[in-house]
Amino acid sequence: MKRSAVGSLALLVALAGCGAPAAPAASDPAPTGAPGGASVAPAVPAGDLVRWPDNATVSHIFYHPLVVDPKRAFAADNPDRTGFLQYMVTIDEFKAQLVQLHDRGYVLVHPQRLAARDAAGVMRWTPLFLPAGKKPLVLSIDDVSYNKNTVGNGFASNLTLDAAGKVTNTYTDAAGATTTGSYDVSTVLDDFVAAHPDFSLGGDKGTIALTAYEGVLGYKSSPSVHGDTAETRAQAAQAKAVADALKATGWKFASHSFGHRDYGSLSLAALKRDDERWHADAGPIVGATDMIVYAYGADIETGNRGYARSNAKFAYLSDQGFDYFFNVDASVPHWVQLRPDSVRMGRINIDGITLSRALEGRQDVLPLFFDAKAVVDPLRPLPTPGA
Ligand SMILES: [Zn+2]
Repeated sequence: MKRSAVGSLALLVALAGCGAPAAPAASDPAPTGAPGGASVAPAVPAGDLVRWPDNATVSHIFYHPLVVDPKRAFAADNPDRTGFLQYMVTIDEFKAQLVQLHDRGYVLVHPQRLAARDAAGVMRWTPLFLPAGKKPLVLSIDDVSYNKNTVGNGFASNLTLDAAGKVTNTYTDAAGATTTGSYDVSTVLDDFVAAHPDFSLGGDKGTIALTAYEGVLGYKSSPSVHGDTAETRAQAAQAKAVADALKATGWKFASHSFGHRDYGSLSLAALKRDDERWHADAGPIVGATDMIVYAYGADIETGNRGYARSNAKFAYLSDQGFDYFFNVDASVPHWVQLRPDSVRMGRINIDGITLSRALEGRQDVLPLFFDAKAVVDPLRPLPTPGA
C-alpha cells in the first residue's frame, strides 16, 4: 500500500499510514510442535479445546479512533475530512464488524500467545488451544492520544474512569453536551466482550499502540512536551489510572514511537532518541512493553529477511526489550515471521480506504472478516478519496 502523500497537518502525521509499506507475502513453515515455554498468557477457558494448527496463520487487524459523529467528521467544510475518510471507521461500522467477526468464529488473542521465549530465551511457537470452531484474531488500535485534530471533530476526547472504576470515554456532541460512555474502540469492544465472552480467549482484548508527543489517552502527560510540572504529573497520574484499569481488563500497550516517527528511514541515533523519549514519557504510565507497532507501518527491515542483530536498529530495539514487531500489510490474510529473538507480524488496516476498496471488489482480505456492504455506514461518503 502506498504511503499517503497528504499530511502537512499533525492529524495526518498521526494517522497517515498506519497504512504503508507492505510486508512480503510469505510466512514461516508450520510450527514444529516444539513445547513452547515461557508464555505468561492467562489460562484459557475449560472445555473442549482444539490446537490451532499453525500460529503463522493468525490475522491481525487494526483501527484508528472511531468517528462517533460522521456528520461532523465528514462535513464538506472540515479541513481534516479527507484524512478522516481515509483512516477512520465510524462507531456503527465498528459495531457491525464486531458482530460479523464474532459470527464467523473469531476470538481475540494477544500476540504473546502465538510465540514466546522459552527458558533459554529462544522465541518459539507456543501451542495455541482454542474452543472448537474458533479462529484466532489479533487486534490493535493506533494513535490513542485524543489529539487536537480529533477532539471536537466528532470523536471521543479521552479514556477515563467512571465512578465504579470502569474505563469509559468522554464525548462532547455537536450541541456541546458532554457525556461519558462507550465511544471508541476499546470501550465498545469491552461492552461487546461483556455480552459475548466467547469473543475473547481468556480475557484477551487488544493492544493499544501509543505515541506520546501529544500525551497519552487524552492526557497532556508528557514531561518533554508539556513541561515537568505538577499539572503534567497530575495528568500522567490520571492516565496511569486509566492504563492500569485497561491492563486489568485485557488490554496491552505497545510503543508506536514517541513522535509518530518513521523508524524505517530514521537514522539509528534519531531512532534511539525517539525511543528514549517514549520510554521516559509513556513508560511510567503504561509500564514495560515487549511490542513495537511501527508508525506508518515503516519496518526497520525490508523484504522477507528476518531480523538479525547485524541490523543495528533491531539490535538496539531488541536490547530495549522489544520482542514483537508489527508492520502493515493488508494484501494477505496473515503474515507472521518467527526468529530466535523476534516475532514479526503484518497488520491489516481496517479503514475508509480498505472498506471502499472492498466495496468495489478490489480488496480481498477484508471479506474474510465481514461483508463490507453490510457494515458500511450510510453516512460515509463514497468512494473514499485516494482508495
Ligand atoms: Zn499511527
